[in-house]
Amino acid sequence: MENRDFMQNTLSGAHNQGNGHSAKTKTDVAQGLRSLFVKELKDIYWAENALIKAIPEMVKNATSKELVAALTGHLEETKAQVTRLEDVFSLIKEKAEAKKCEAMAGLVKEAEEIMKDTEKGMVRDAGIILAAQKVEHYEIATYGTLYSFAKTLGEDKAAELLQKTLSEEVGADVHLTEIAEAFINVEAMEAA
Ligand code: FE
Ligand code: ZN
Ligand code: FE
Ligand code: FE
Repeated sequence: MENRDFMQNTLSGAHNQGNGHSAKTKTDVAQGLRSLFVKELKDIYWAENALIKAIPEMVKNATSKELVAALTGHLEETKAQVTRLEDVFSLIKEKAEAKKCEAMAGLVKEAEEIMKDTEKGMVRDAGIILAAQKVEHYEIATYGTLYSFAKTLGEDKAAELLQKTLSEEVGADVHLTEIAEAFINVEAMEAA
């Protein structure tokens, strides 16, 4: 993974090229990365918990059976992801704490606005898919990075758990794309 190589180089190179930066030892960088890792875990822990409250609202607003099923299934995955994050905290010997994620708070707010501003049915469903995919992409970016951080920090067990969640988020995103494409096909058929 490109990300990871970059960080590996940063970590191993940090104390050698110390001209003018002699204070930044390898340990300083590792500690900084670790504290960023923990902070971001708290951020996504807040975000996943927020989604447990937000997804049922999306389910209530959705019309398509497939969309309802996809969201309901991902809600169950999300609950397991919260537990998995608690396992990550315990593996790295940190307390499971939530720190408000402004980005997810904003994405949830956007989802609420979209649902309010659209008529129930196909258009609102399309809006829900749009909002949900923004959420999934945020999560994919977060877990991809957290996975790299965990690997770089030598937290392989934690990395494995983060990778598992990452693949669930990717799966959810792919599934939403499939549902959206089916919509477009239906519209094309009606127009013909
Ligand atoms: Fe999630
Ligand atoms: Zn976040
Ligand atoms: Fe955030
Ligand atoms: Fe997700």
